[in-house]
Amino acid sequence: MATKLEKQEDITAFVDSIDTFLLDCDGVIWAANHVFDGVQTVLDLLRSKGKRILFVTNNSTKSRKAYLKKFQSLDIHASADEIFGSSYAAAYYIANVLKFPKAKKVYVIGMAGVRDELESEGIQYVEPEEDSKNLGSMDEMATIKPDPEIGAVLLGFDLDINYKKLAKAFTYLHHNKDCHFLATNSDLTFPAGGTVYPGTGALLSALTAPLDRDPVILGKPHQPMLDVIIAKYHLDKERTCMVGDRLDTDIEFGKTGGLKTLLVMTGVTTPASLEASKIQPDFYISSLGHLKP
Ligand code: PLP
Ligand code: CA
Repeated sequence: MATKLEKQEDITAFVDSIDTFLLDCDGVIWAANHVFDGVQTVLDLLRSKGKRILFVTNNSTKSRKAYLKKFQSLDIHASADEIFGSSYAAAYYIANVLKFPKAKKVYVIGMAGVRDELESEGIQYVEPEEDSKNLGSMDEMATIKPDPEIGAVLLGFDLDINYKKLAKAFTYLHHNKDCHFLATNSDLTFPAGGTVYPGTGALLSALTAPLDRDPVILGKPHQPMLDVIIAKYHLDKERTCMVGDRLDTDIEFGKTGGLKTLLVMTGVTTPASLEASKIQPDFYISSLGHLKP
């Protein structure tokens, strides 16, 4: 069972045992545009103790630069190199792990976050706008053909997803086994406005169901995201803690990766769902604002 962090000496001992905090955003730092009490104070305290802070989010719709703007608009101090979104993780993976050939292009289902991060890594891609207009009729299906120039398909969250995009992505992957298949994350739902909506995982299943192959998924709880973070920042796993509000993504991510885990109760997990879950964090705390060493 997880240990509740409550007593001052336990909080101090815990903070002393950690060098790097990987912080999930939605449900930990903020809920939509509301910043939780005490978050900035705790971030300042951790930084003053020399702790490294990285903001790790599955939300692929924004680039690191766009996230920085969100942090600034909410008056939370952060720098671009402290932000690690699934769109950046995917771009980093394509550039540095796949060592993507300069002559090839990525076919993107996704939004500005994915596009901007591919650009930041110097990777060529097909402008998603080209396919935002759907096929006009079944006769146009014949325009969709395999393309040897496409070396990878990357799927992220996309408000403009349509049949044409899915059919193109499917065709590139179905006819070319060497074409890499990647997704920024696989969350089936995401929270907004007090309810949940279909997430990237829901869009992804429209591709994985007809294909006989599985994607490399970058976002939490999948380990390529952690591999990329470790490769970039050379972290000591024993002294790194994943802080999140969700057991099946954040906490599972940290546990599988051999990190310490801290659950906050400001997001989707309730005391009852924590007790009922097989996934148990090392520690839990009522909010990040209570983590005052
Ligand atoms: N994907 C989308 C599109 C989202 O809007 C969100 C949260 O708002 C997420 C994923 C989950 O992000 P996080 O990992 O920060 O909880
Ligand atoms: Ca979250």
